[in-house]
Amino acid sequence: MKVITIPVTPFMQNCRVIACDVTGKAAIVDPGGDVEKILSAVEEHNLAVEFILLTHGHLDHVGASNKLADSLNIEIVGPHIEDKFWLDGLPMQAQMFGFAPQAGFTPHKWLEEGDVIELGELKLAVKHCPGHTPGHVVFYEPKSASVLVGDVLFKGSVGRTDFPKGDAAQLKHAIETKLFTLDDKTRVMSGHGEDTSIGYEKRNNPFMSGRFG
Ligand SMILES: [Zn+2]
Ligand SMILES: [Zn+2]
Repeated sequence: MKVITIPVTPFMQNCRVIACDVTGKAAIVDPGGDVEKILSAVEEHNLAVEFILLTHGHLDHVGASNKLADSLNIEIVGPHIEDKFWLDGLPMQAQMFGFAPQAGFTPHKWLEEGDVIELGELKLAVKHCPGHTPGHVVFYEPKSASVLVGDVLFKGSVGRTDFPKGDAAQLKHAIETKLFTLDDKTRVMSGHGEDTSIGYEKRNNPFMSGRFG
């Protein structure tokens, strides 16, 4: 799996273009903003973008979805329907975070635990990991042993749970049952900051070791 990381928005959100090495078919994961930057990366690498994938409904992850869907004539897939209130509330989110005005939208398809998304010869397994937001999903690709986790897990940290419908216990449970069950060598690509691995987080993440209860 080819991965191009494009930091977008003032929140330095890691938008990623992922592509099948064999077919060149690509998807844009969490296009939070900076449409032109994303489009020029797609052009530069000569990729055939099939769809947009969203991990959750926060503005810094979804802000460029509509414009990209229109200009590339592709569908928006995900997150889980439990994040509908975040997507409907995009005008409010824009105000809250000081972003340019933003309209709400509904993706072409909602995702659920157990869905498998085919991208060329890649198969992305959808795992529902609520806690940061109730409809947060992550995408696990077994061939490359990598997982795109959005704001569920970061290097040495976990996602905030102080937003509406956030739940710290739920987040911890999701990480333990859906992520820490993956192989230690699995590459973890987070929505902010640098990559990490499942093994590193199992050993070093203070939020998961019980040190902070
Ligand atoms: Zn978030
Ligand atoms: Zn974020």
